[in-house]
Amino acid sequence: MAVAELYIADEIRSRLPEKALAEVAAHLHKRDCQTCGKPLGDKAPALTVDDGGPFLSAMLHHQSCRPSGWYQLGSLVAGAHLSWTSRFFTLPMDDDGALDPRATFIVCPHLEAVHLDQDGGDGWTVNTGRHWRARGFRPMGRELVVDKWVADQTPPRARLTGSTIQIDAGLDGQWSSSADLETIKACRTHNGLLLGVSTAFEPVAATGPNDVLYYGTAGHIFLGWVPLT
Ligand SMILES: [Zn+2]
Repeated sequence: MAVAELYIADEIRSRLPEKALAEVAAHLHKRDCQTCGKPLGDKAPALTVDDGGPFLSAMLHHQSCRPSGWYQLGSLVAGAHLSWTSRFFTLPMDDDGALDPRATFIVCPHLEAVHLDQDGGDGWTVNTGRHWRARGFRPMGRELVVDKWVADQTPPRARLTGSTIQIDAGLDGQWSSSADLETIKACRTHNGLLLGVSTAFEPVAATGPNDVLYYGTAGHIFLGWVPLT
């Protein structure tokens, strides 16, 4: 779930417009404090912004661990406490009238942190989509090719062991998820899976095809076909 309540320091409010703050809150998910690693719990987390010059890193902490504020990047080693969630299921696809589901792996690669840059031409905006586009992933729609990897970049590696899929996206993370028989079968049949990356939602137990359609058509999931290795 996107964060509903946040401590936001005045300096952050003076440097980021309301629109950027709303987007950040929608792409952050309350799990663990990025300072101590313990659960954020019921209280409102503190939003911190680390200023890296051309990019900003927005993160969640306990207000008592690292108060909300605008910091210069370098004061914190980021990433040690980042959480991810994923789900692996089938997505129905209509191939000339025949239903032929594809195995689909949806991941939120970092729940408690997100990066912003100004490369979108609209001030500071969350760069998840731009980052994954640069890695060869595309939003749902005519740009997306299913059943083969078409980008020049090397795709992440995917290995199926029993009913568990393991995805290795290098510096972007390693994720795994187990799946039901239908998903495993679809993955074997097509020798690959549709990998979808998003920070706009956190995959939970109930996550399924409807979420892919909802967030996908809104342009919030970046997808690519990853062959099994
Ligand atoms: Zn803490």
